[in-house]
Amino acid sequence: TKPSTFLVPGEKTSAGTLAIISLSRDNFLPLTLEKSTGAVDGYLEGATLNTRFGSYPHSTLLDVPWGSQVRASNVDTGSRGKKRRRDATDEDTPIASQDDDEDSTAANAPVKKAVTAPSGFIYVLRPTPELWTTSLPHRTQVVYTPDYSYILHRIRARPGTRIIEAGAGSGSFTHASVRAVYNGYPRDAADTKGKVFSFEFNESRYHKMQAEIGEHGLDGLVQLTHRDVYNDGFLVDGKSPKATAVFLDVPAPWEAVHHLSRRKMKKGGEEAEEDSNWVSPLDPKQSVHICTFSPCIEQVDRTVTELRTLGWVDVDMVEISNQKINISRERVGVNFPSEKGYNSSPADVAEAVTKLKSLAERNKDTQRVQGLQSGTEGLDSEMDVDSTPSRDNRPSNGLNGTADDAERPFMQGRLVHRPESDLKTHTSYLVFAVLPCEWSEEDEAAAMAKWPCGN
Ligand code: SAM
Repeated sequence: TKPSTFLVPGEKTSAGTLAIISLSRDNFLPLTLEKSTGAVDGYLEGATLNTRFGSYPHSTLLDVPWGSQVRASNVDTGSRGKKRRRDATDEDTPIASQDDDEDSTAANAPVKKAVTAPSGFIYVLRPTPELWTTSLPHRTQVVYTPDYSYILHRIRARPGTRIIEAGAGSGSFTHASVRAVYNGYPRDAADTKGKVFSFEFNESRYHKMQAEIGEHGLDGLVQLTHRDVYNDGFLVDGKSPKATAVFLDVPAPWEAVHHLSRRKMKKGGEEAEEDSNWVSPLDPKQSVHICTFSPCIEQVDRTVTELRTLGWVDVDMVEISNQKINISRERVGVNFPSEKGYNSSPADVAEAVTKLKSLAERNKDTQRVQGLQSGTEGLDSEMDVDSTPSRDNRPSNGLNGTADDAERPFMQGRLVHRPESDLKTHTSYLVFAVLPCEWSEEDEAAAMAKWPCGN
């Protein structure tokens, strides 16, 4: 099996594999790289990525180290035989505004535009679950990185874990979980190989997801089944996945958890009639950790009741409240006293330095008059420098107005922190619980026989 670039990326890009193209800071595009001939006679041939930042024949994106910056192609992309002039047209792209991009990108789209500003660039990034989550085609709500990182940690997903997931949806959680449990490609059906057993009820989503798994080289590591798990449970071809971790992102998890038991159960905790053919989807020798993902508290209530009734323990609920905080120095953020009071911002750095020098002179005078030994108090009284108790921000002893002062970090501005509001996350309640492994007298006897001090 060819290793998935999600798991074994190698050093460089290659044809037939997925890359994540970074167009600007928050604009990512998944792209399967194809063999292409590149530029022929000044025209782009074959697969080409066309963006408002220029055109990129796949040939320029192939066999480059992951993370490379690639410049836009410097050739005309007009259709062959219809040569276009290379002068400015209304199709010109303002490359300088690359970070303000609105998505207007067509991967592998037919070549239409002339490249008139070849200074555009992109980055070719190796696919990771995090980048896939931000760039995947949405078919459903998805689980975002802050949630799945915590979930995978709590359900103890690690190399070798066999994890059950329902529903697969857009595959965001699937990609994160397969990386967490991956411990080598399975040569056989060994139970020791980490694997994701994923279930999806919606047929068209099932087919799209199945195709993606193949394209991403995850066959054999993710086994997707088209299934209504409420009615039909979690066996795969009649066999047990022997799972020790479960993640349910379905509208009614309480309809499915009775299938995740060690004996045949009915909903509501009632034991079902004996069935010698019944097989548990769980590993009989290990405790099982579950997480369910529900957007409202009524759903949580019903799930918790069902879990308790079915013998799950350590039931608790968590809501991830993730906030990204951007910390920076305001460029010339020192507030200068002025006739009008504080907050007169200098227009440019040169003006700032001049003002700082004159301010330092005034500080010296003030200190002399007040008989102060250190310049610190003078500075604090004159300038509204950052009040954050960080070493870098504190005026140091002896700061009494030299030109060097302007170069000290705190003189370059005050630290400001602003929450970034646009962090994508789908707020939900996470319910966790554990189903202990069963322990018989025989198990205890066997354990004691192995115990060095046991008798
Ligand atoms: N966790 C997914 C992700 O990160 O991309 C998103 C899951 S989406 C919110 C819920 C999915 O559960 C939908 O695709 C839906 O079709 C599927 N689903 C709903 N009921 C189901 C059932 N009874 N059995 C299996 N899948 C079901």
